[in-house]
Amino acid sequence: MIKFGIRQSFDRIEQAEERYANLSMPIEVALPYYWDIYEPVRRHLSEIAEKIKSYNATVLSIHAVQAPITDEKFKIWGKEIADFAMMLVVKTITLHPNNINKDKDVQEKTLKNLEYFADLYKNEIVFCIETFEGARRVFTPDEIVSFNLPMTLDTAHIRNDRKIWDLLKDYRENILNVHLSAKEGNKQHLPIDNFCKEVVSYLIENKWDGNVILEYLPEFHGRMLTDLESLKSKAKED
Ligand SMILES: [Zn+2]
Repeated sequence: MIKFGIRQSFDRIEQAEERYANLSMPIEVALPYYWDIYEPVRRHLSEIAEKIKSYNATVLSIHAVQAPITDEKFKIWGKEIADFAMMLVVKTITLHPNNINKDKDVQEKTLKNLEYFADLYKNEIVFCIETFEGARRVFTPDEIVSFNLPMTLDTAHIRNDRKIWDLLKDYRENILNVHLSAKEGNKQHLPIDNFCKEVVSYLIENKWDGNVILEYLPEFHGRMLTDLESLKSKAKED
């Protein structure tokens, strides 16, 4: 069954209550997104998990800080985030594939890091690589597929809708999260359009099991609740 939720981020510990108390829908918890603001939060992850639990928030997934997954340090910060996910009883963590002058060696190293976590957490925690099209990303969407890695498919990050259909048709078993929003020209993370709704219908028809997370620019946050409700009723009709 599909679980529907919205992305809910925080940048500072003091924001936890404002962001995670009184939620009326399930969420993806997005940790502070770049290292300088993540660093002060890092030591307090278990405290933050306790808080989120105390507010009875339904957490579907975690979005990691955007830090390189290509070097050894990932083993340390990745483990901290995996333990945070365990505390919240969440299985999937989304990672951004960083930009790097890549070669086979760099990709090998990154795969080793991911294997380290697969050994450590078995199936309890799964790190998913998010789709970004830049050629310098350590894993492009095609490379995620060729290395058979768990994927978070972001419908706004892939320009060509055909490409999205191909991934949904051929790779949906390995897609654990869909970050859903529309795009137009250079704009991303706009409220869902017909294409997004067709994607959800397709996932429902194919009995896909995963999280659909709405991710909108701040100016559209007011529309998330109604959009989420309309997607959920789609799922019920079926
Ligand atoms: Zn992301």
